[in-house]
Amino acid sequence: MAVTGSYYCEDHKPKARGNGRDAFQSKNKPFYRSDEWQSTRQYVFERDGARCRECGQFVFGKNAHVHHVIPISEDPTLRLEESNLILLCPKCHAKIENENKKQTPRVFQKYFKHTGDRSGGVTHTPK
Ligand SMILES: [Zn+2]
Ligand SMILES: [Zn+2]
Repeated sequence: MAVTGSYYCEDHKPKARGNGRDAFQSKNKPFYRSDEWQSTRQYVFERDGARCRECGQFVFGKNAHVHHVIPISEDPTLRLEESNLILLCPKCHAKIENENKKQTPRVFQKYFKHTGDRSGGVTHTPK
């Protein structure tokens, strides 16, 4: 039952999109090995107090999952954006990734409140 050896969700793993098996590996390697990512990851870890943002459980080592709220595949420019990163325990991470798969809608709405308010607009909201 133990899920070990995997730091990242499927989402974060290189996607085998058809072409060749080895190609994607060398393609994706630089990012997760990069100093930038390592230090951003460390920053998120400390910022979130080494606790899962969902359930509050303490995490460390390989249980400390840093999740991209907006997947890299969707917006690569946010991959090092601290506000796009949250610390999760493996359980909550799996849960969130599952929800992600089920409904394409974006999970980040849960974290970033998005009010439908258009200030200054002349919008009617009929009810
Ligand atoms: Zn958790
Ligand atoms: Zn993730």
